[in-house]
Amino acid sequence: MKGVTILGSTGSIGVNTLDVIARHPDLYKVDALTANTQVERLYDQCLRFNPRYAVMLAEQSAEQLREKLNKTECTTTVLQGEASLAEVAAHADTDTVMAAIVGAAGLLPTLAAVKQGKKVLLANKEALVMSGHIFMQAVQDYGAELLPIDSEHNAVFQCMPSRYAQGLEKSGIKKILLTASGGPFRGTPLDLLEGMTPAQACAHPNWDMGRKISVDSATMMNKGLEVIEACWLFAAALEQVQVVMHPQSIVHSMVEYVDGSILAQLGQPDMRTPIAHALAWPERIHSGVASLNLFELDKLEFKQPDLQRFPCLKMAYDAMRAGGTQTTILNAANEIAVAAFLDNKIKFTDIALVIEKVLSELSYRDATSLEIILEDDKHARLFTQELLAASMSAHNKAGS
Ligand code: NAD
Ligand code: MG
Repeated sequence: MKGVTILGSTGSIGVNTLDVIARHPDLYKVDALTANTQVERLYDQCLRFNPRYAVMLAEQSAEQLREKLNKTECTTTVLQGEASLAEVAAHADTDTVMAAIVGAAGLLPTLAAVKQGKKVLLANKEALVMSGHIFMQAVQDYGAELLPIDSEHNAVFQCMPSRYAQGLEKSGIKKILLTASGGPFRGTPLDLLEGMTPAQACAHPNWDMGRKISVDSATMMNKGLEVIEACWLFAAALEQVQVVMHPQSIVHSMVEYVDGSILAQLGQPDMRTPIAHALAWPERIHSGVASLNLFELDKLEFKQPDLQRFPCLKMAYDAMRAGGTQTTILNAANEIAVAAFLDNKIKFTDIALVIEKVLSELSYRDATSLEIILEDDKHARLFTQELLAASMSAHNKAGS
């Protein structure tokens, strides 16, 4: 029986993880569940899975949850705050930690699990984008087992030879082919992009995901973050990671070998497949995902990405090429710009413009410590917020 902690259990990945776990009560028990502010959903999850701990970020939410649970038979202890997230992630009874908090907020609790040598299932790609070198070094130093949940990286992992960690060249690997659907705006005329609303951006044609990653998919920053994620996870050079547009989201990614073979992983676009794969690895378990009916597939297309339509993808490549804390700054600026867009404060096309401005104005440095990374993350967030506030007040003045 493995103890599982889910960081971000009320989100899209969290809910899918609990769906897979519920199918295997003989294999997994839930140790801790965590959420930002969603009291009702965490309450329902506690009643159903009776974890030892439930953590809410805000004190007020934790108090509400505690009051509600006190009226039930549920024995879950409710904790609160960032430190408690790290505490449950590192708890001795936990074997496996699903890192499914969205954004930079996931970094410290995920690292806490890594530093206890846990099996860490990584959905929170922003953690690697922010701190790739330090993160991967900690995985090695503390003997953690890191398994990718992002569907593309999980697919790549499945197509890799078991000893890929000795180096891609030594393993006969030429390149990693990361597939990308292109999101909801892949065919939208360029002049209409600026008018796209948060609801339109979040309506992904193939995947049902949280709002931040849905917007990232619409700008293709998501693929940019995934290119960076792939470089760190598989010790690949930037040139060894190629993005391939594949609108059907059936081939989840591929690995090309020097002998001309390309291995691919195919399946329904359903996150329960990579979640079940990583949870049970090296075994296989049922995930609840229906088999892919090959005879029903119309066609599978593969195309070059259009960097003019998707400037965020190019910015991510450039940031990774620059190195150091430039990817930390990219991620921070993106998180703030996406939140402003979701809040109807800026236009869809402003997201890329804001990030570009932040990257050109701020200087980056070697990412030699976690302190430096956290400092540059904080600074870039404040700078982006100030930039947005200044441009909004200029806009308001011009309008009045
Ligand atoms: P989501 O918005 O649906 O859920 C996010 C979870 O994190 C929620 O439980 C929320 O309560 C919690 N959370 C948010 N902010 C927090 C904070 N400041 N502190 C603590 N907890 C906080 O997001 P999601 O779609 O499940 O994505 C989660 C992560 O997985 C992201 O990094 C995303 O890029 C990655 N991912 C998601 C998918 C997908 O299909 N949804 C696929 C690949 C990768
Ligand atoms: Mg992905």
